[in-house]
Amino acid sequence: MANKRIKYPGVGEVLYVKSRRARKFTLTVRPWRGVRVTLPWFSAYRDAEAFVKENLSWIEERIERARLYEKTNGDLRNRPASPEAEDALRLRARACLPGRTAMLAKEHGFTFRRVTVRRSRTRWGSCSAVNNINLSIFLVNLPGHLIDYVILHELVHTVHKNHSPAFWELLDKHTGGRARMLAKEIRKHRITI
Ligand SMILES: [Zn+2]
Repeated sequence: MANKRIKYPGVGEVLYVKSRRARKFTLTVRPWRGVRVTLPWFSAYRDAEAFVKENLSWIEERIERARLYEKTNGDLRNRPASPEAEDALRLRARACLPGRTAMLAKEHGFTFRRVTVRRSRTRWGSCSAVNNINLSIFLVNLPGHLIDYVILHELVHTVHKNHSPAFWELLDKHTGGRARMLAKEIRKHRITI
């Protein structure tokens, strides 16, 4: 995905995200995440900007609502869950995720430097520039095939540091042609205990 950020008076920053899946412009305003416009891969940013300008009052209204939600709900992302549940989850995650990562890396012929299990509520996983893989402890709550999907996704990032067609092609190869389907499926899951 290619991203661009533009600031507008009264609205603040708008994130433009080009997506290969998008067929039309889509506007979303989410608490903590702000304003985001998804646009089809081959469309021009200036067309998306015109679209945003046409919808500024709608965006402002949604921002109001999002702010109210943020105010009444506190910062859910950093709110500690029950410490015991989280400790149990961390133990489970540490017991299974590093081993599973090593196993999948070996099976699929990838190399990585280190795997770290973290209490991340914003991402299931990530891969650093030097191929350290970070996985969220919350991953262990997902069905097994999605845990494997996230791990393989990060392992493919050891080769491609982006979500280019080459990235998806390689991920497809290692997921039996199901990369897009799995990516779609995981979006239905929220990071939670
Ligand atoms: Zn990725």
